[in-house]
Amino acid sequence: MKIVADRNNVTSIIQQNHQALLHTIENTAHAAGKPTPLMLAVTKNHGIEEIEPLLQQGQRVFGENRVQEAASKWPSLRQNFSDITLHLIGPLQTNKVALAVSLFDVIQSVDREKLATKLAQEQEKQQKNIRCYLQVNVGNEEQKAGVAWEDLDALYRHCRECQLTVEGLMCIPPALGDPTPFFQQLAQKATEMGLKNISMGMSGDYKIAIESGSTMLRVGSALFAGTAHSIGAAI
Ligand SMILES: *Cc1c(COP(=O)(O)O)cnc(C)c1O
Repeated sequence: MKIVADRNNVTSIIQQNHQALLHTIENTAHAAGKPTPLMLAVTKNHGIEEIEPLLQQGQRVFGENRVQEAASKWPSLRQNFSDITLHLIGPLQTNKVALAVSLFDVIQSVDREKLATKLAQEQEKQQKNIRCYLQVNVGNEEQKAGVAWEDLDALYRHCRECQLTVEGLMCIPPALGDPTPFFQQLAQKATEMGLKNISMGMSGDYKIAIESGSTMLRVGSALFAGTAHSIGAAI
């Protein structure tokens, strides 16, 4: 009995978080005079029983940051919901590209030519069009994934040469400090490149991202706040 009660409780917490976030996102965009961005639900470290409440709410766009973890959850969920769009938002090693292409619809972490070439080859092999974002290391951080600003144009050219569909830019700003200048730079660069999609903003900074012109927020911990799994999560 206790377990059932807890499960119901978790479901309702997640659904309330989801609804409240959509509401806040819409209000923030409206107040800033910006279009309302799409909210991608980041479900890394969360199991199927925590994803189902989101599906029940109509959420269909999801993000995972590890290929192997996605392989253990999404094929079964997709059997029941044919209209799911799954984004890879974490780093991708070339030896996982085949699996990634079979599992995901969108790869947001394209950051080097070798990876782009491999993705292009694999989409040809699997006869599946993969939509890509170029991840930019906006803060020039040594340990962080993403293409350097000065290499971005060349990477984009390379992607077009190998017939890879690039839909937008993505970034994770430095953890400390105000992300505003990084968000603004990314949005401006996307506009200059003629790319419509700008993936930026997470639980801690999504309002700033909206005000800076984000078209896609990647929200994880705020969706699961108040559930057992969220203990220690920064929200
Ligand atoms: C985990 C993750 C997110 C979500 O972060 P939260 O702070 O939990 O909202 C967004 N983007 C990437 C790339 C992530 O790995």
